[in-house]
Amino acid sequence: MEITIENLGKTYRNGNNALKGVNLTIENGMFGLLGPNGAGKSTLMRILVTLMKPSTGQAKVNQLDLIKNRKEIRAMMGYLPQDFRFFSKLRTSEFLDYAARLAGMKNRRERNIAVEKMLEEVGLFEARDRKASKLSGGMKRRLGIAQALINEPKIIIIDEPTTGLDPEERIRFRNLLSTMSTKDIIIILSTHIVGDISSTCNQMALLDRGELVFSGPPDSLIQQTKGHVWLVQANEKDYLELNRKYPVVSSVPVEGGWEIQVVADKLNGFKAKKIDPNLEHAYIHFMENKQETREIIQAL
Ligand code: ADP
Repeated sequence: MEITIENLGKTYRNGNNALKGVNLTIENGMFGLLGPNGAGKSTLMRILVTLMKPSTGQAKVNQLDLIKNRKEIRAMMGYLPQDFRFFSKLRTSEFLDYAARLAGMKNRRERNIAVEKMLEEVGLFEARDRKASKLSGGMKRRLGIAQALINEPKIIIIDEPTTGLDPEERIRFRNLLSTMSTKDIIIILSTHIVGDISSTCNQMALLDRGELVFSGPPDSLIQQTKGHVWLVQANEKDYLELNRKYPVVSSVPVEGGWEIQVVADKLNGFKAKKIDPNLEHAYIHFMENKQETREIIQAL
């Protein structure tokens, strides 16, 4: 599978320019779309699942055009929106059966087999007779995944995959997704949580205010941050000064002060050593640089 996005732009009716000429190719595997709130991630997702038309540009799935071949493309997509809701009266298995019918599975016998298989796969078989609305947060999210997968889609799009899940459910959910990422499937995770991407995705893109600012493997973003992350032994005065000047990624109280992780190009006059960056450091470093460039341009 391949999604090619060319010069894709979206201006909402009120003039909000949510996407600005995005060019991107997405291939098989887990793809992470990362960016702060308001970056344009949901707008891009809504266009890809054909719920909304772009203002400019085009996107193709293999050779099929998103607008001209809407029906074919919908048949190969599974979508889990952020605010996925259930009808309160349906039981878990009834809900999945309903989703299968919506996805165009007309044959009842085939539907029954698919529903049963899916309940097993997402670990909800025991809960099949429980009302969907009474499931725990993590189980609801898994039922959301199940409805997105019931028609064996080739492209799966999940908006904010781990919102509202506790840490254990979060890990289970991530593992479930990575076991699904078999050969000829694209899974897109759209999130502002760096951990969702660092633990599962082999490719990623970074969106900021409607612009694509990075695309490639997470490792390549991390490499660009090497030499810019510091571990500082700080007293109160240092802490306040560092916090004012640089993004502080973490601070742990230790005897006599704090152990602080800071993203900065240079750090003179502190008891500091360079440490290996992770994706969270890289994300902050990248967004900080963008911010500084913007401030310089605005000041000119
Ligand atoms: P993200 O998903 O990254 O948080 P969105 O795609 O939701 O970003 O939003 C991108 C920008 O478009 C924001 O400035 C947001 O306020 C705006 N926006 C989103 N939806 C609409 C809409 N229906 N009408 C007008 N502006 C919108």
